[in-house]
Amino acid sequence: MKKKPFKTESKRILDLMINSIYTHKEIFLRELISNASDAMDKLYFKGLTEGLNISRGDFEIFIEANKDIRTLTIKDNGIGMTKDELENNLGTIAKSGTMDFRQENQDSLKKPKAASQGEDEAESSAEAAGETDEAGEADSAGAVTEDNSPDIEIIGQFGVGFYSAFMVSKRITVISKAYGSDEAWRWQSEGADGYDIEPFEKEDWGTTIILEIKENQGEEDFDQYLEQYKIQEIIKKYSDYIRYPIRMEVTKSRPKAKAEGEEQDDQAMPEYESYQEIDTLNSMVPLWRRNKNEVSAEAYEGFYMEKFYDYEKPLTYMHISAEGTVSYNGILYIPAHAPYNYYSKEYEKGLQLYANGVLIMEKCADLLPDCFSFVKGLVDSPDLSLNISREMLQQDRQVKAIAKSLEKRIKSELLKLQKDNREKYEGFFKDFGLQIKFGIYNSFGADKDKLQDLLLYHSLKEDKMVTLAEYKEKMAEDQEAIYYACGGSVSRIRQLPQTELVLDKGYDILALIDDVDEFAIKILREYDGKAIKSVSDKDLNLESNEEKEAAKEQAEAHKDLFAAMKEALGEKVKDVRLSKRLKSHPVCLTSDGPLSLEMEKVLNSMPTDQQVKADRVLEINSSHPIFEALTRLEGKDPEKLKTYAFLLYNQALLIEGLAIEDPAAFANAICELME
Ligand code: ADP
Ligand code: MG
Repeated sequence: MKKKPFKTESKRILDLMINSIYTHKEIFLRELISNASDAMDKLYFKGLTEGLNISRGDFEIFIEANKDIRTLTIKDNGIGMTKDELENNLGTIAKSGTMDFRQENQDSLKKPKAASQGEDEAESSAEAAGETDEAGEADSAGAVTEDNSPDIEIIGQFGVGFYSAFMVSKRITVISKAYGSDEAWRWQSEGADGYDIEPFEKEDWGTTIILEIKENQGEEDFDQYLEQYKIQEIIKKYSDYIRYPIRMEVTKSRPKAKAEGEEQDDQAMPEYESYQEIDTLNSMVPLWRRNKNEVSAEAYEGFYMEKFYDYEKPLTYMHISAEGTVSYNGILYIPAHAPYNYYSKEYEKGLQLYANGVLIMEKCADLLPDCFSFVKGLVDSPDLSLNISREMLQQDRQVKAIAKSLEKRIKSELLKLQKDNREKYEGFFKDFGLQIKFGIYNSFGADKDKLQDLLLYHSLKEDKMVTLAEYKEKMAEDQEAIYYACGGSVSRIRQLPQTELVLDKGYDILALIDDVDEFAIKILREYDGKAIKSVSDKDLNLESNEEKEAAKEQAEAHKDLFAAMKEALGEKVKDVRLSKRLKSHPVCLTSDGPLSLEMEKVLNSMPTDQQVKADRVLEINSSHPIFEALTRLEGKDPEKLKTYAFLLYNQALLIEGLAIEDPAAFANAICELME
């Protein structure tokens, strides 16, 4: 029989199609299963609109692999195709019968629903969003839903998916019988050359597709598509949430039953036997489309551990349904602990992205902002415009809209946790707080409103973690600013002389111990109208007017002493001045300018050659006995004053946790005094 040519002329288009739009050959199975699911949806729809006695439970997709003759068969009992439809839909590249169906039934087909009514992502609050999730549920009974549109989810649209099967097949045979018709047809093609079509015998309606799988070619392994494990794997990966059962006879093994009278020997290795069983390979109802109050915490947690390979339960999860500019369902998880590679370049952020239950992207990075890169989970939306291979998104407007709504949801979930379960939140912050701080720093403050309430710092007064809001709430009436001090640990910070006077005033101090802390807090600058200040800040402004006057006079009176000390220390310090923050300590080191001593430490510990240096200021406590000693030396024993200045400077370095520049000279100077 003479072959009919394909209607879209070129062989080249088909070749191009087949070999260049898909990056993974294995998706052919996803495409064929999606087509089968569409065909069943169409028949189901017909049943509803024409009052036929068809229920969802009647449908199934059956897969069969035969290694001997190298065939993989995909059989459905959907609507089937007439001769014309076979020719038009399979004989014409880029002709989608499904798209036509969509358009013809536009009015009665509703948009696939998200599992609830409800969240208008633009203004909903966290609480509202959390509670609306319960509402609707995909009606598995098969009734027409309240808005009178049947609940079906058509996948096809481009009219090319079918051809992807040529990536793995030498020849494809399609045997189909349209519902209600009494003739069946066989369509057959080896690819670009065209196809044959002839009458055929088929008992039931529906479509059977037989792929004759190619022989292995070099590196290319086609045998795998005939292997049970591979078929199971591909279906689990891409088609797990197709709503009709995908079934296959699988070989399993079980311990052999002992024959009667046989010795029981517990030591002996049990014998196994293999047996055949028909299994449903997909889980069908996606967890995220189920009614929230029908899903147990264990189910959510188990799903997470299995899907995202964590051996620990997640810290918390969110089941989200949103309807608005873009509708979607999703489940998000916050892991209990940071993955080992979390703070490294290897870590890839992203959520799984589904379109109508079919996996499109394993890790869609654009769905998550960097500051929340620790979130795991998935999003399923019917509103995505996909490109032709359905591997990528056509445009990111929808993704952006979803990302925005997710971000809000994640933040409010974290705030809720902070309020309702502080212990859990502190656990979260211990692992992921750094990321939040990086978020503030890296966005140069653009994200500060979004993130500042998520911060926790150790309070010196309360000796526990507090938020900025909690700090502010407990501020003394006359307190002007939120104070912080930096250091390697809370106990080191407690010993800093600079903290004394602030604490003495009854003001709390936030202890900042992470490298990024001071950089991030400097970007915040203020919180809710209150300045955030370091206890080492040049002008703490803690004294009364009289005290200020007195200090000024004293500074003036001892001008020469400070000048002499500055001269003794030379380039080491930018200035020597009277301190306004010390009580019992003789000296401390602070800095002038934007770079603090703590920042200097952090920057210099980074693996670059450049070293930075903060402008050091040696502050002297005038009420300390050592100050008197200094005044006594001034003008009388300049050499000794030099030694004193040197010793005090080095002491200040030590207290600050900085290295002494010349330890030998320091030791000698001490000995000199002791002699
Ligand atoms: P799409 O699914 O994007 O429409 P395909 O190339 O995957 O494109 O399929 C082309 C058309 O062939 C479908 O639109 C549908 O009309 C028809 N078709 C494919 N597979 C089947 C099937 N199993 N049952 C009924 N019709 C089918
Ligand atoms: Mg298709």
